[in-house]
Amino acid sequence: MEQQKVTDVFGSMVFDDRVMRSTLSEDIYRSLKKTIEQGAQLDLSVANAVADAMKEWAVSKGATHYTHWFQPLTGITAEKHDSFITPSPDGRIIMEFSGKELIKGEPDASSFPSGGLRATFEARGYTAWDPTSYAFIKGKTLCIPTAFCSYGGEALDKKTPLLRSMEALNKQAMRILRLFGNTTVKCVRTSVGPEQEYFLIPKEMYDKRKDLIYTGRTLFGAKPPKGQELDDHYFGVIKPRVEAYMADLNEELWKLGILAKTEHNEVAPAQHELAPIYKTTNIATDHNQLTMEIMQKVAARHNLVCLLHEKPFAGVNGSGKHNNWSIATDKGVNLLTPGDTPEDNAQFLLFLCAVLKAVDDYQDLLRIAVATAGNDHRLGANEAPPAVVSVFLGDELTAILDAIENDKPYSGRKKSVLKLGVDVLPYFQKDTTDRNRTSPFAFTGNKFEFRMLGSSNSIACANIMLNSAVAESLKQYADRLEGAEDFNTALHAMIKKTIKDHKRIIFNGNGYDESWIKEATEKRGLLNYRTTPDCMPHLLDKKNVDMLTAHGVYYESELKSRCEIMLDNYCKAVIIEANTMTDMALKQIIPAIEEYTTALAESAAKKKAVAEAISCCYEQKTVTKLSVLIDQIAYRTEELTAAVASLAETGDIVEKSYAIRDKVLPKMSQLRALADEAESMTAEKYWPFPTYGDLLFGVR
Ligand code: ADP
Ligand code: MG
Repeated sequence: MEQQKVTDVFGSMVFDDRVMRSTLSEDIYRSLKKTIEQGAQLDLSVANAVADAMKEWAVSKGATHYTHWFQPLTGITAEKHDSFITPSPDGRIIMEFSGKELIKGEPDASSFPSGGLRATFEARGYTAWDPTSYAFIKGKTLCIPTAFCSYGGEALDKKTPLLRSMEALNKQAMRILRLFGNTTVKCVRTSVGPEQEYFLIPKEMYDKRKDLIYTGRTLFGAKPPKGQELDDHYFGVIKPRVEAYMADLNEELWKLGILAKTEHNEVAPAQHELAPIYKTTNIATDHNQLTMEIMQKVAARHNLVCLLHEKPFAGVNGSGKHNNWSIATDKGVNLLTPGDTPEDNAQFLLFLCAVLKAVDDYQDLLRIAVATAGNDHRLGANEAPPAVVSVFLGDELTAILDAIENDKPYSGRKKSVLKLGVDVLPYFQKDTTDRNRTSPFAFTGNKFEFRMLGSSNSIACANIMLNSAVAESLKQYADRLEGAEDFNTALHAMIKKTIKDHKRIIFNGNGYDESWIKEATEKRGLLNYRTTPDCMPHLLDKKNVDMLTAHGVYYESELKSRCEIMLDNYCKAVIIEANTMTDMALKQIIPAIEEYTTALAESAAKKKAVAEAISCCYEQKTVTKLSVLIDQIAYRTEELTAAVASLAETGDIVEKSYAIRDKVLPKMSQLRALADEAESMTAEKYWPFPTYGDLLFGVR
């Protein structure tokens, strides 16, 4: 695209500040800005004027409908379209959109998961406009970002607690800044830049795989001759077909004001990544949801399918999402920037300590925030961070903290200079911060990168927990400092105490190392929740409920509902997988092997008919092996079906999730191993669906 075109296209489908300024009167614009920036109540007359301007703008761009766009607990976005048309007395129609319709919507929401929050007598929920996130046009629909609540005021979505957590952090961070003598800052916001990984495969191959269609991941598939062992895909040359997809995707994202910036090939074949420029957390969350949706839509236009599942293929890396997170003031000052001499920068150190303490105190909440059936396949599988949460700080910062803890002077080591050993390359300053890709939570110079998220996760959950936990650390600090006789002495003592109490969470080594897991759990007492059923019930541990309710992020009832919904989602996801496996085994895999063994047997018989003396060793051996495998596959399929059926006896969702973890998933692995073995022995033309090789190397 030409330079001019990019700047024209960017944000062209967004009712952003520029459009507001040009379409609203001065007064209305100012009232709306006040609502956006300070959360002031929006007057109905203002809302009417804004709605009218929005509609005029949307209609001029070809929109015919509007929707309140929201993020229910399914993890994806929801929308219900209403057209702007209203009958006019002359029997024709006019296009109308009122302030009331802008501010509040009432989708018939009884089918969204609520975990018991919405009693059946009050099945309605309502959506409320989030004016801090701009409205935009998708297709022919004006989308209004909203929060989704029950009539009792309980959040039925992910955005409401996210906004509450941002407010909680803002409140506590402001107390700290005031203590440091800052009187001008008006608010503190967190920012997020989520790096998104995904796979692209040919549509015609996807269409032949029931597992991909029903579950988003492959449930069978023998290892192809080539996987990712050559490391030739990471940052490799992008194929023209993928390049065309990325160009199209960028344009669609830019139209929506999404700052898609970086794209490259990832480690696994067919795997890619897209990173936007960071934004305020709630907007980054909206944008990431939109990005995932548009990635899939644009793929369809290119006859491709974009897989966002955490682990679409066994044996090659799965996909994650890196949540780059920082805290900044409304003046644009990043509170996680160390400055020139970090050891002198007390305010930075306090915020750093707040994060360390938060991650240590609430390891469980961070693990819970990324827990899904899909992500359980990645964490701890030597391709993504382990399920143990730890923080990477880098040598320099760790040495500084060590000096503070032990009252030693910090010997201001110069940044070491990296010599590359090739004369034509220049010397450059070695980044003393992270290039450690194995850490779940890494300090990367002026931000933290939380790397445990799965590719399909909404980033809302991780940021809710992170914001809340850091708000709690800051609250404890502010409580103590506000009452301190001598600020500097108290500050020093508190930083020192935090380091002492929480240094166990700092780990700069290789997170993939088995010995680290041993050390983390046995020596340091860190948590290691391997699966979703292991961690999820801890959402309701007293310390977690107390903290999250104290900061007004969740009501206890909301937490109970979330725990139930997340476990229910987990159970349903695995049951669908198990049922899909059974279906594929019985209807596709066994018949295919039967067909092949019959053909082999016939060919052996024919050969024998020609001459008694001919040996049909190969055919006989293969037929025998495959016949045994067929029996074993049939047997394991029966067992799996029985395991799934027995779940019906368990009413309690926690018990059910344990049964799935302990009984269903192992049976699925056993069945898969047999089928994969059979695949490797069956002639290609008999195999009923595309192989790993086809899928991973099919985009050419
Ligand atoms: P990588 O992790 O691959 O080295 P980058 O350092 O380029 O990537 O950054 C990755 C993401 O971090 C991008 O989305 C970027 O916008 C985001 N990011 C950069 N600075 C900040 C910040 N201060 N706060 C939040 N996100 C940030
Ligand atoms: Mg990264």
